[in-house]
Amino acid sequence: MKQNLLGMQLKELETFFISINERPFRSKQVFQWVHQKGTSEFSEMTNLSKELQSKLSELAEIKVPEVIYEKDSIDGTKKWVLSVGSGDLVEMVLIPEKKRATLCISSQVGCAVDCSFCATGKQGFSRNLDLSEIIGQLWIAEKAFEDQKDKSTRKVTNVVMMGMGEPLLNFDAVTGAMQMMMDDRAYGLSKRKVTLSTSGLVPLIDKLSEVTDAALTISLHAPNDELRNQLVPINKKYPINDLLEATKRYVEKCGDSRKTTIEYILIDGVNDSLQDAKELSVLLRKLPSKINLIPFNPFPGSAYKRPSSTRVQSFKKALQKNGYITTIRTTRGEDIMAACGQLIGQVNNDKTRKKERSEAKNTMISTKTI
Ligand code: SAH
Ligand code: SF4
Repeated sequence: MKQNLLGMQLKELETFFISINERPFRSKQVFQWVHQKGTSEFSEMTNLSKELQSKLSELAEIKVPEVIYEKDSIDGTKKWVLSVGSGDLVEMVLIPEKKRATLCISSQVGCAVDCSFCATGKQGFSRNLDLSEIIGQLWIAEKAFEDQKDKSTRKVTNVVMMGMGEPLLNFDAVTGAMQMMMDDRAYGLSKRKVTLSTSGLVPLIDKLSEVTDAALTISLHAPNDELRNQLVPINKKYPINDLLEATKRYVEKCGDSRKTTIEYILIDGVNDSLQDAKELSVLLRKLPSKINLIPFNPFPGSAYKRPSSTRVQSFKKALQKNGYITTIRTTRGEDIMAACGQLIGQVNNDKTRKKERSEAKNTMISTKTI
């Protein structure tokens, strides 16, 4: 089987070249061709000899996920549906703004955390994406900029791990891909522009601080454990207090003076009262934070509703009155089902894959003992 070089860190590429009796410095050349110049054909790597090009095409490949289709929203948001084999599809979304373009990347096919308000969670879980399938998403988005006629819009400036899946439950592949995103010899994004969002797996937040200092956002969504247990079931294992403590440790370890972003989805009549805002204000005194409110994005089959904009505004004002920088995430790409929590892809729930899935679930359970 051909080796896929797309998901290899520079060090691994070096080992690969040594293993095929080639000079190690070739790794740097290929790494740059793939990640900086977006090349997937060895024949286009002009600083490699013809012999080496053909040797590489026999032994290796640059395999990116297959684009099944792309959809453009009227607001400029773009969604890609990618096939990763065995009937599994994942989605990624590009949100262009005036001065930046944010790419929302998936980390798993489906999600086992199963938050009650999330379309991805409702799909169940199939498998983790590997490193090449994660970094491949950035590769594809960069390529799209190269192809477009209007070069005035910026290339991908920010990456958020907020697509399908819980990134911390696919730890090695996700952190490896983030490292590549921040590597100057690859995509060179600054650590402030690569963000991991988590539903709150406490031991893995501590583990994360050992390998990266990228930005972290916490999907809190409730001001107390009773409510959070209903919305984010993982809270039963890692209650709010432990989560905020772990987040504090992460920020301190990174020597980061920034405030942590707290994501708070607003669901009509569930967590959006002024009493909830008050409770949240008191709770977050423990952690320097800014709050990003996400009005619930509906999806077929969900019983929840988005609150009225008056209710959203009053919630925001209540937090601001208590001194919190509070923003409301404007919904983008809703017409193409590309808004937060609307990414469903296609999750292969085939019975023959049951074993794989239960192994993944066990990983989730065993994180408690890490
Ligand atoms: N699993 C990670 C990252 C992916 S979800 C996490 O939960 O943080 C990315 C964000 O979308 C999270 O803040 C999540 O809570 C939010 N989200 C999920 N479903 C949503 C919905 N239906 N409407 C609005 N936001 C949603
Ligand atoms: Fe998974 Fe995040 Fe959706 Fe919860 S909100 S089910 S953790 S993707």
